[in-house]
Amino acid sequence: MNDFPNTKHPTAWSEPFNQISRRNITVIGGGIIGLSTAYAAAVRGQGKIKVSLYEADQVGHMGAASTDMNRVFRYLNGPDPTLTIWAKEASSLWEYISRLSGQSLFHRTGVLLLVHKQGDPAHRGHHIWPYDDIGVWVDESVRNLEAEDVPFQRLNRQDITKRFPQFRDNDIEEAILDHEAGYLEAQTALHVLLDLCIKVGVNYYPYSPVQGLSSDANGCLIQLKGGEEIRSDAIVVTLNGWTGDLLPLPTNTLNLAEQPIIYLSPPNDASGLSEGELPVFISLDTDCYGFPVNNGVLKVGDDNPYRPIAHPNQRREPDKTYIERVITTVAQLVPSLENSQIARTHVCFYDRSKDERFILDAWDNDARIVYGCGMSGRAFKFGPIIGERLARFAVTGERPSDLESFRIR
Ligand SMILES: Cc1cc2nc3c(=O)[nH]c(=O)nc-3n(C[C@H](O)[C@H](O)[C@H](O)COP(=O)(O)OP(=O)(O)OC[C@H]3O[C@@H](n4cnc5c(N)ncnc54)[C@H](O)[C@@H]3O)c2cc1C
Repeated sequence: MNDFPNTKHPTAWSEPFNQISRRNITVIGGGIIGLSTAYAAAVRGQGKIKVSLYEADQVGHMGAASTDMNRVFRYLNGPDPTLTIWAKEASSLWEYISRLSGQSLFHRTGVLLLVHKQGDPAHRGHHIWPYDDIGVWVDESVRNLEAEDVPFQRLNRQDITKRFPQFRDNDIEEAILDHEAGYLEAQTALHVLLDLCIKVGVNYYPYSPVQGLSSDANGCLIQLKGGEEIRSDAIVVTLNGWTGDLLPLPTNTLNLAEQPIIYLSPPNDASGLSEGELPVFISLDTDCYGFPVNNGVLKVGDDNPYRPIAHPNQRREPDKTYIERVITTVAQLVPSLENSQIARTHVCFYDRSKDERFILDAWDNDARIVYGCGMSGRAFKFGPIIGERLARFAVTGERPSDLESFRIR
């Protein structure tokens, strides 16, 4: 297993909390953020904290945003240096989880970020938001990699052709190869984390939708379906697009959008698409992306928001024209995908904050209710870090310093 960066001592999980002010923590939502929060609270609590995890369905159900074959892990995350620092820390934790579970969850295929000569300005947006100029975004992102000693390469057109002959779009001008990046086996990771949670004593309650919550200076209360009430010292709400069901967020705090994913069966004669040959790729101009073939299928998608929705339960199947457009756009980059068959599709959703930064905050003055949302289609990779920060916030009642800039806007 690759050892970049140092994966030996992930301090975020190996050290006990300095201070424990709350000894009974309720976590609501069993996606990557809730599982990571519950695990961090229990493992760092070292038997002194009771942790209960309530999930409306069950961990790994297909309606949650965390459930999918794979999720991109990249160190290059734009101009905010915190995200590159967090990626390094998260990378250690993902390797640690892999080691603990004996499952290789992190595939370091590299991530290739492609820049076109004449990108379509109408499409620019999601990946490089809020920058209009891809060049500025790339330069600032790369500066963060340099500052953190993360290996990367800037490839010109000739380098790309030599190294990755699969990409035959002549309009590609340059690419950044985020060397040690790749993808995480998302669905497997959820089950691995659930097992780890149970091993460290987390009480897991599937099929237990929480219907209401409240707090005062003495503690918190949740209401379950059927009227049962449960008390704890602090609550962590990790409900993604469902957050508004329990916390009355100000209007427009979160904008939900459908995000269809397409799984392709490439033509039999297509070559160069398997892991080790094809890196994860992202076109910064079109926002379309793809993964190497995994279990016979190659996943592609468009990071731009598709249809706006008011609630995750409003998702519908995508239009045929949308699917065809995404496949055509991806096949322009990698022509051997042209005659692929659609194996299946799935409609996920993003919970976009106004500025696409995460919202990791306390709902009340005492930080008895801590919450994370606004993950804006990027949080899977940071799950273990965000979970550790939310757990620490809830257990100590004190905001971790690197969450200052993630208050609700
Ligand atoms: C198409 C797509 C591609 C993405 N690609 C990437 C990527 O490549 N890299 C990356 O890092 N990130 C990516 N993301 C983003 C990432 O997957 C999400 O940010 C992350 O999974 C969100 O995790 P979560 O735990 O907040 O939410 P979820 O996984 O949605 O979990 C929320 C849970 O809360 C439960 N719940 C809801 N209501 C209640 C209730 N009342 N009581 C109890 N439980 C409740 C739900 O059932 C659900 O299980 C992508 C997202 C999508 C949709």
